[in-house]
Amino acid sequence: MKILVLGGGGREHALVWKLSESPRVEKIWCAPGNGGIAAEAECVAIDAGDVGAIVALAERIQPELTIVGPELPLVNGLTDAFRRRNWAIVGPSQQAAQLEGSKVFSKEFLERHGIPTAKMYGTYDSPADAYHALSSVAWPVVIKADGLCAGKGVFLAADFVAAKDFIERVMENSELGPGGRRILLEETLSGEELSFIILTDGKRYAPLVPTRDHKRVFDGNQGPNTGGMGAYSTDELLPDELRETIRSTIVEPTLHGLAADGIPYQGFLYIGLMLTNSGPKVLEFNCRLGDPEAQAILARQDFDLAEILSDVAGGRLDPAKLRWRAGASACVVLTSGGYPGKFENGKRIEGLTGVEHIKGVKALHAGTKLVGDVVVTSGGRVLGVTAAAATLEAALASAYEAVSGIHFEGMHYRKDIGAHSTQRKAAGD
Ligand code: AMP
Repeated sequence: MKILVLGGGGREHALVWKLSESPRVEKIWCAPGNGGIAAEAECVAIDAGDVGAIVALAERIQPELTIVGPELPLVNGLTDAFRRRNWAIVGPSQQAAQLEGSKVFSKEFLERHGIPTAKMYGTYDSPADAYHALSSVAWPVVIKADGLCAGKGVFLAADFVAAKDFIERVMENSELGPGGRRILLEETLSGEELSFIILTDGKRYAPLVPTRDHKRVFDGNQGPNTGGMGAYSTDELLPDELRETIRSTIVEPTLHGLAADGIPYQGFLYIGLMLTNSGPKVLEFNCRLGDPEAQAILARQDFDLAEILSDVAGGRLDPAKLRWRAGASACVVLTSGGYPGKFENGKRIEGLTGVEHIKGVKALHAGTKLVGDVVVTSGGRVLGVTAAAATLEAALASAYEAVSGIHFEGMHYRKDIGAHSTQRKAAGD
């Protein structure tokens, strides 16, 4: 099989890593890829959001299967362009990708089908209407920009002053671009968050192993939000009873709702949940694998990824074929100093070759590039050091051992990935 993977972050490196382990796979291209993917696939310098350029690339290289990592090509209609040509691709249509591309679309979908979610106060196209609506909400209130905003479009406002400031920046000053032209206000939920990700061919679906990620930049969940500072996976995150509740009250109504609305969904569907006192509620949908959740999930897979994804593209997914390694996995993200604010690129990364001698460890590249044969930093999130082991403690110990051997100027990482879970266990929770 010849496969094209779109994207160039840690998630895509994890996909390429696992695809390359399949005996069916003869060749992998990755567009645009990165400095680590280049060792396992042929990287092609293309903007992954540019549908025309990707179609032209596929015409030239003729992959037998294409896998889309990030949301932008999906929201831009890449899969529709491929399916019109009868080319096999894994990812939802442009219309289905609106579940991620428009918070208003997804909220209206959830409400229409009675799927548990935070109560919405309203949607607003003008800042004046939004300010006015603030007089009748409960505080804190959640403000969401409608469109894609690179993870910066959600704000939990403690009071009127903070809310007005965010709305002003997003709607009046367009700080987040066109994604902020419309906003919605919704009730704040409290509880623990959980990512529930499924793979579906439109008829059947298979849940992937559960993960939890860490969004804040500093230990103890301090500092600003990031794209993700780490993630871990262990079956204990999801007791059987909770899994069944999520399947029956959220996953199945979502898939039935999509079918009833005439929007077939094929690919990965990421459901961000808040586990509230009154049951799990949907915070958001993403139309793709999360990053760094994908790294933790794929570290535990025990099946042929190329076979399964080819089955999804062909509409013949057999959920029983998705087998997982018992135990746990963890991914610790190493970032450039200053991220998620300003940071410098081009720092030489040392110690990478030592990492893979540690059992169960893989250094997945995100913001790296090759300059000659030297790997240098080229983004905020630089590496996701990923480990799988028999227990979460062992996976974390291996990942952090590997991290201690890697160095670049300004390197930052959280020292408490998965700690909440291990502490709760120690406390008998
Ligand atoms: P979203 O992109 O909608 O998932 O929002 C990003 C993050 O904002 C989530 O992971 C939650 O931490 C938080 N969030 C979103 N909606 C709510 C809500 N209604 N109540 C509390 N937190 C929320």
